[in-house]
Order: sequence, then structure tokens, then C-alpha cells
Amino acid sequence: MPTIENLIKKVKEYSPSVNEALIRKAYEVAEKAHRNERRASGEPFIIHPLSVAESLAEFKMDEASICAALLHDVVEDTPESIDRIKSEFGDEIAMLVDGVTKITTLKSKSREEYQTESLRKMLFATAKDIRVIIIKLLDKLHNMKTLEFLPKEKQLRISKEVMDVYAPIAYRLGIEKIKNQLEDLAFKYLEPEKFNEIEEKIKKNKRAREEQIEKLREFLEDTLKEHKIPCKVVGRLKNIYSIYKKMVRKERTFEEIFDVVALRVVTDTPDNCYKVIGIIHGMWKPIPRRFKDFIAMPKVNMYQSLHDVVIGEGGTIIEIQVRTEEMDKLAEEGIAAHWKYKGLETDKKFDKKLSWLKEIMDWQQDASAKEFVESLEIDFFKDEIYVFTPKGDVIELPKGSTPIDFAYSIHSGIGDHSIGAKVNGTFVSLRHELRTGDVVEIMTSKTQKPSVGWMKIVKTAKALSKIKKYLYEEEKLPTRGAKKIERQDLPVSGGQGILLIEGVKNPKIKLAKCCNPLPGQEIIGYADKIRGVVIHKADCSNSKLKDTQKRKVKVHWKSDFSAFIELKVEALDRVGLLADILNTIAATGTNLDTANAKMLGKDMSECTFKIKVEDLDHIRNLIERIKKLKDIKKIYIGKLGV
Ligand code: MN
Repeated sequence: MPTIENLIKKVKEYSPSVNEALIRKAYEVAEKAHRNERRASGEPFIIHPLSVAESLAEFKMDEASICAALLHDVVEDTPESIDRIKSEFGDEIAMLVDGVTKITTLKSKSREEYQTESLRKMLFATAKDIRVIIIKLLDKLHNMKTLEFLPKEKQLRISKEVMDVYAPIAYRLGIEKIKNQLEDLAFKYLEPEKFNEIEEKIKKNKRAREEQIEKLREFLEDTLKEHKIPCKVVGRLKNIYSIYKKMVRKERTFEEIFDVVALRVVTDTPDNCYKVIGIIHGMWKPIPRRFKDFIAMPKVNMYQSLHDVVIGEGGTIIEIQVRTEEMDKLAEEGIAAHWKYKGLETDKKFDKKLSWLKEIMDWQQDASAKEFVESLEIDFFKDEIYVFTPKGDVIELPKGSTPIDFAYSIHSGIGDHSIGAKVNGTFVSLRHELRTGDVVEIMTSKTQKPSVGWMKIVKTAKALSKIKKYLYEEEKLPTRGAKKIERQDLPVSGGQGILLIEGVKNPKIKLAKCCNPLPGQEIIGYADKIRGVVIHKADCSNSKLKDTQKRKVKVHWKSDFSAFIELKVEALDRVGLLADILNTIAATGTNLDTANAKMLGKDMSECTFKIKVEDLDHIRNLIERIKKLKDIKKIYIGKLGV
């Protein structure tokens, strides 16, 4: 049974100078407010907030979080108002309590709407303060642990919500510890038969299994230490729900999943992580394509680790994770691991990654941008796959991508002529779905051409736009908007563009990278048969050197048009950057289609916006306004007429 004394003892272990009186006061207010309440189990209600506060202490959360956890049901269930908490405990604690309360009191509408909305609001709260979400997750976890006392109908409703909303959030925040527990508890109520079946089988095989794991564990640890690698090897037992998911996803039996031995090596440096893999490959045979490098390519929730699968003596399949102590802590506690006791050093890299999340959430407050946010959310959390070229270069693609996507991501010439692919040495069709780790080699033929059917089987925007572009040019697709193209008035890319080129039919237009001409600036164009027309700024010295051999053509910006263009902005990365640019785009009444951001090296980020501009003044005005924002380094047009 949790007690206030125990809680204080726990907090003092990691924070000796904590304001003990404040925690006691929070406890007293909560105890008094809940005095006449009992939980469904018959226990005094105060047990619940005390348990939540204790589990927060396990994550070494700060004193404001601990107090807020004690008070988290006071406003919701009793007449205590948030103002009283504010006057007695200050703004910070009141803000946390208010955040948790708001999530709790969301009224359910239709099922789906409810979930999406509550998910949104939770993410919202995260952006304001990550502690709110950690308190809420641990609140849910304690409720799940005592769910047996509730009526069946409520059990199912709460479990479904936990499975659909809270466990994924724990996963996204990288808090594996909470995620696994939430999943198993929810699974137990949602699929009791399947849960029991797996649990029984685990129990039955447990002894033999543990002996086998221990033997391998010891052997691996000794071997690594002989190689002078400081490390700890632990055996891992998978959570019940993850075994179930694997059985379903991979269509395997329990035995096939369970017989896999899972070991984790925790060492000191990333360097040694790779050395460990080398040593393991020296004694156990690796299964091709099962090695995954999440150190070089961390998951979106910042998880880092090397994953590998090898075959040990007697054909035992061994799954291995190798990571540093720091990565291990992050994997288990995720965001909570970074929320060290207030005032301690913060992790710069982490802050930076989180800043993107925060911006997206801030932006969400603007209801008019709702639609846009949806696309952004998908982009931000989308599942990626990593495949390899025959030379070993890594290509990142969205899940579900095909060889055509791969081909276009290499070069549009390869994309246009691809007839099939070899994946891991085996011929596959262009529809084949690629998976992480695949080595992809594209087969091409000069006579091959993109077809309308390809548009349905590609996943990347790049492939789709290249295919469309080809089809428009060949007039296999009706052009969008523009009807007849005048010979002397040739817009770009099938009728949408902002440049006029005189005397060239269907020109391929490129803006020169050396000078990045912007709309409204004086420009000149050089035409050649292979590359089409390249546009330079009139005063670009580079153009004079390189392009003198080519035919000069007259080009000018159209003053009146309506076209999609791709605007690229390079800037020093900072909190609020994306939001600032998005707000500027919105303020100029610009129609935004997609937005993407990626890091360029350590401090720079590159934001790409596909926008619809209405005329020359519009785009000039927009560019001028973005230029004036803080930390903007470079702004240019990526593609015309996308
Ligand atoms: Mn609660």
C-alpha cells in the first residue's frame, strides 16, 4: 500500500533538497478532498493519486509533477477549483493539474471522433508541457491495474481507449516501459482467451527457456569481455501483446516466436556497439537482411540501437539488440528519461528534435489549419523503410513503396525506363512492396515508358509527380487547368507555371542552382537540347562562363498566373521556426499543400513548402516576408509548376 512517507523517501533518494512540505501539503489537500470517496475496489480513493505519484518518482520526475499527480483528480471529482490550487501551489502545479484534468474530462462524441480528438488534445498538452502527458499515462496505467473492479462494459471501453490512444502515445514518446504494461493490460481485457493462452504457454515453458537464455547470456558476456569490451548482457522476455502481434503479423505459431532467444548487450560507446556486432558475426551466423542500424538512423521516437538476428548452435535463433547505456535508458523511459530533475543539464539534441513536435502542436491551435495539420501529422509519424542500392547507399522511402518509387528516387531517367527489379537477388514486379533491408537493383529498358497504371502503385510524391509530368507531356493525361498552349506563351509543366519562355516548345525549365533566381528578379535563359532551358539571374557571372555556347532565349516572369511551386527555406534550426514560416504563409493568404522539414547537418534545417501562388506580386511579397523572419539563411524556388 503506497503511503506519503514512502513517497517522500523515494523522491528524496534522487532529489535530497526537494520541498518536502509542499508535497505533504499537496497530499493533505488531496486526502481531504477525496476523504469520503472510495475506489471501485473499496480502497480509500487517495491510494490512486498516491500510486500515480509513486510511479512518477520511479521516473525521477520533479516536485511539481509529484504534487500535480497527488492533486490530479481533485479538480475533476470534487468542487476544488483550479484557482485554489493556483493560489496555494502556484502557476506551474496548477497548469499541470489543469492539463491532466482537461484530458480527463473530454466528453465522448462518436467513437472515432472521440479518440482522434483526445489524441490531439493529449499531444497538445505535450507540446505545452511533456509532464502532463507522463502524469496522464501513469494515471491510466494505475487505472488499468485496478480495472477488474469495474463493470465489464467499462473495462472494454477503457481498454480499447488505452490500446488505441495511450499505448501508441507511450510508444511515440519512446516510453517502452509504460507502453508494454499498458498493452498487456488492455490486451487481457480485450482478448482474454488469447491473452490466457499465451500467458499459460509462457508459464509452461518458462523454466527451460530461462536456463537456455542464461547459458547463452553468460557465454556472450564472457566472450565480449575476453575482447575487452565493457558490457552487460541481459536476456529479454517479450511482453505478451508483442508476442501476439508478431504471431498475427508474421503468421507464426507461438513456438516459432517464443523459441527465439532475445538478448540485449549494453556497452559504453557507439563504437563498441558495432564491434560487438562484429564479434557476434564471428561466432554466430547472421541471418541476411535482419541487421538494422537504428544508431545511424534513429526511429522517430528517437530510439537508438543495433538490431540483429543470428543463428546459434543447434539452430537457435537469437535476436540481439546492442546499445549504449544512454540509448538503453532512452529506450526504456523515452521522454521521461530526459526529464531529469529540474535544473539538471538538458540534452541539446533531444530538445532540438522535440522542438519540431512542439511546433506542430502549436500550429494545431489554429483551427483553420486543421486540414494541413492532418497531412503534417501523417508525415511526421509516418512509417519509413530503409532500402539499399547495390552499392550500399541507403534510400529512405515511405512504407508500402515499390521499385518504381525507388527508381525515381535515384534518378527520373531510371524511373521512366524501369521494367522490373531484383530485390535481394530475386526478380520481382514493379508492384512488389519493398521492405527495410532490401537490396534493390532496377532493371531498365530504353523502350519502357511510364503508364497511367503506375500512378496507382507508387507511394512517393516524387515518383507520382514525375510520372504525371511525363504523361502530361505525352498528352496522355488532360492538362490541369490550361487548355490551349500558345506557341509564344508557353507555361511550364503542362500548363502551370510562372515563367514565359519565348520561342521554345514545351521547354523543360530549370532554375540555376548557382544564383537561385527569385520571381521578379531580372533573368536570362539558355537553351540546349538535353537540359532544356536553364534560367540564371541576369547578373550571374557563372551563367556567362558556362552557357555562352548555348542559345540565349527570352524569358520573363509572368505577372498573372496561378500555379503550384515548391519553395525552399534554409534556416538555423530553432524552436518556433516552422511555426513562424507557416504563419507567414497563412498571413499572406497562400494556399499551402504540403510542408516538410529536415535537418541539414547539425544546426541547419531545410523546410520545403508546396504552395499555390496567384500572381507575381503575391510570391514576391511572400518571399520578402519570409526573408525578414529570424534565422532565415536562404530562400529559393525548388521546383516550378509542381
Ligand atoms: Mn486519476
